[in-house]
Amino acid sequence: MSDESVRWIQEEMDRLREAGLLANIRAIESPMDGRVIIDGREVLNFCANNYLGLANHPRLREAAKQAIDDYGIGPGAVRTIAGTMTLHLELERRLAQFKKAAACITFQSGFMANLATIPALVGRGDVIFSDELNHASIIDGSRLSRAKIVRYNHADADDLQRKIQETTDYRRALIVTDGVFSMDGDMAPLDKICEVAEEHGIILMVDDAHGEGVVGQGGRGIVDHFGLHGRVQVEVGTLSKAFGVVGGLVAGDRTIVEWLRQRGRPFLFSSAMTVPDVAACIEAVSVLEESTDLVDRLWSNARVLKQGLQEMGFDTGHSQTPIVPVMLGEAPLAQEFSRRLFDEGVFAMAIGYPTVPMGKARIRVMNTAAHSEQDLEEALAAFERVGKMLSVIGK
Ligand SMILES: *Cc1c(COP(=O)(O)O)cnc(C)c1O
Repeated sequence: MSDESVRWIQEEMDRLREAGLLANIRAIESPMDGRVIIDGREVLNFCANNYLGLANHPRLREAAKQAIDDYGIGPGAVRTIAGTMTLHLELERRLAQFKKAAACITFQSGFMANLATIPALVGRGDVIFSDELNHASIIDGSRLSRAKIVRYNHADADDLQRKIQETTDYRRALIVTDGVFSMDGDMAPLDKICEVAEEHGIILMVDDAHGEGVVGQGGRGIVDHFGLHGRVQVEVGTLSKAFGVVGGLVAGDRTIVEWLRQRGRPFLFSSAMTVPDVAACIEAVSVLEESTDLVDRLWSNARVLKQGLQEMGFDTGHSQTPIVPVMLGEAPLAQEFSRRLFDEGVFAMAIGYPTVPMGKARIRVMNTAAHSEQDLEEALAAFERVGKMLSVIGK
């Protein structure tokens, strides 16, 4: 019997369960890779953000082990007290160099990077111009800042321009957008947004969590992709997706990076990234600097999968990245599709309302460099079987 005080929570949970909205959390019994073991069974994994297969890369594993021997595990403090090890500074230096940015600061996660950055840049009396589809961590960081939030139409620089012109009576402003949008795999028109930002003298912040290690030359990110070095003041990235570890970063304007060391609250009040995480991330930078092989394989895998699905007659939306949505319409169909794929040995997530709009439910296929040609062939065959079974594509 639940305590009376938590009864309302139990009731909410029951409602979610009845509506089929309760998150089904699967446990992975193996390393994160192109194939994983779930419920004792090996399945092809098309759910992870492990774009480059670095989560189980031998060099990252080795670097983490070596660092543990040299430095132990925990940092023991927040960055400003005793939690900054030479390793943290080395990672920041290496990331800045890799991304051709003036400076870089790391955080415990991408989510933390947004919570640190937005309230450090704007506050009460200020305004944030925010893409309507921005990530939850941008929304939460914006709310924490107490600035007024003005949403502009998704990926629409003209609407951003209009919203800025219509908004008066504010002190400072910030424009913030996701770089790659995680549900459709489309990209912000950062070149156009940058022009608008410069015209109005507003700080531009892009959260490139799904572009870090994926877009730009050799995975250098969205600022590199558009050749906007030195013109985007804040480029947030994550070390938790393509980098295969966990952590967050802000690269860009040196003054802002130094300001975040003084005023970023998760930097000041939450302990630093752990030693093995930092060491593995440094090694990831080395891997990416030495060769573009992994990034190239990621993109060619994504091309093969997307083309294969399209040729079978699936609608793959308007993705510009290795995130491939397979549009199915209603949520129950997407759920059923995902269940049957799993029976066929393919782990690919169904995504429905409220994560995506009503009637836009889909299977989201996350491609990675960890998949072999054989893996892709097997996955395509499974999609074809299930697609025909559920009459999504013709016989
Ligand atoms: C995943 C994601 C984050 C969170 O990154 P973590 O490192 O997992 O905390 C932040 N912003 C965007 C746009 C994301 O897609």
